[in-house]
Amino acid sequence: MRLRIANGSLVTPRGTSRADVVCRDGTIERVGDTADLRVDQQIDATGLLVFPGFIDPHVHSRDPGLTHKEDFAHSTRAAAAGGVTTLLEMPNAIPPVTTAAVFEERAAQHGRVAFVDFGLWGLALGSENLADIAGLFDAGAVAVKLFWGYALDRRTRSLVYNVAAEAPENVIQAPDNGSVLALCREVARVGGVLGAHCEDRGVIDAAEREVGHPVGSYAEFLQARPATAEAVSIAIAAELSAATNCRIHVVHTSSAVGIRAVRRAQGEGVRLTAETCPHYLAFTQADAGQVGGLMKVYPPIRTLDDQAALWEAVRDGTIVSLGSDHAPHTLAEKSQGLAAAPAGLLGVETIVPVLVHEMLGGRLPPDRLAAVLSEGTARLYGLYPRKGALTPGSDADFTLVDPASTTIVDSARLHSLHPQSAWHGRPLRGSISMTILRGHVIARSGEVVGEPRGRLVRAKHERSSSTSHHPSAAMLAFTRELEEVISPDLMPATVFEATAPAPDA
Ligand SMILES: [Zn+2]
Repeated sequence: MRLRIANGSLVTPRGTSRADVVCRDGTIERVGDTADLRVDQQIDATGLLVFPGFIDPHVHSRDPGLTHKEDFAHSTRAAAAGGVTTLLEMPNAIPPVTTAAVFEERAAQHGRVAFVDFGLWGLALGSENLADIAGLFDAGAVAVKLFWGYALDRRTRSLVYNVAAEAPENVIQAPDNGSVLALCREVARVGGVLGAHCEDRGVIDAAEREVGHPVGSYAEFLQARPATAEAVSIAIAAELSAATNCRIHVVHTSSAVGIRAVRRAQGEGVRLTAETCPHYLAFTQADAGQVGGLMKVYPPIRTLDDQAALWEAVRDGTIVSLGSDHAPHTLAEKSQGLAAAPAGLLGVETIVPVLVHEMLGGRLPPDRLAAVLSEGTARLYGLYPRKGALTPGSDADFTLVDPASTTIVDSARLHSLHPQSAWHGRPLRGSISMTILRGHVIARSGEVVGEPRGRLVRAKHERSSSTSHHPSAAMLAFTRELEEVISPDLMPATVFEATAPAPDA
């Protein structure tokens, strides 16, 4: 079965070019001049931007255990409709993915209902499952997640938000820095990646005590969860990474001081990378009046200065990957007001449309979008070049974007179990015309077509060539790694020779 995507503008981290792509049996066969190849099906992509299939590395589908909030069939349908071809599922369902055995169970269960391809995160509990970390990476975990500073319920291993309200015997205390150091050593030994939620618990506890009562306004919410908590935690992560050579990825970075801490570490050759999310790039505290409790997330959406710093970091490569932090709740739960509503919002279906809108508005060049939403993410999580590449042999995953049309976000049209978007009613430039997974069209103009055909993708992490802790050697190795994530040069030159540059989209 051969498919040609004809007349489109291909976008990669190395630029945009006019070229056709022919796919055979789910993988890319040729890019460039394909006139001599007979095909069974042709998609005319005239006027469209053809991106390597977008990857959302940060999704909480709540399945199993919390399926009153969301489930994997719904989140992967939403992903397909929104232009995502692969999502990476966070491990904190019930039971969480703490061992290779749970990993395989979860993979089998999700594989029956997935509309897009998926990778799985493992959960790092500190000393509790240190012996299981190697097995998780051997099974193909894309990374392990540390909910730093959070205690866990001993029975369900779900996060405990209010430790004082729980009986002590039911709580696994948040791991101390010594346990996190041991974890870093182990992740470094097996060549994996540690994804960390970075908000220092002590700083938050003190800030909450200063506010002194349940937060009543968005300003108080920000006071109770200051950016300093993020920066302090990232600074500690940087030291632990420097001491162990562990790759640490700071998920959902939200602040200017957080970015400053990431840059400082990167400048010293520490193997620290960062993610941010569309909600930090699209909203500020000024939107709280209109959007309300729907924009309550941890860490919080902050000021215009924080947003500007995050945009700068996305453009200059300090941030290598974007994720939605899709974290659904029921309508009733999210309507409880700022203090009581749980943190988390819908994102997997809007991450691509929101960022395409920003790209068309000039805030993000198309090549950077291809990097932070596809290739850079695939490289970071050990999925490249099977995912994230428009090169022969890679999976035939594509997201086709129409730059000339407009989308108005409508919660009622979203595919999650409880559709409620913080972007509801917002007009966005551009639209997702088509999502293609391994050569099959899985969504057209926001509607899912066909049966679930998503499969597990197992990560392959290469063990670091640099084991030296000597700062200059570490810096050289890390600089090479960053260059690979940001500006790799693996696209065949022939693609560009034969094609004229595309007009500005
Ligand atoms: Zn998350």
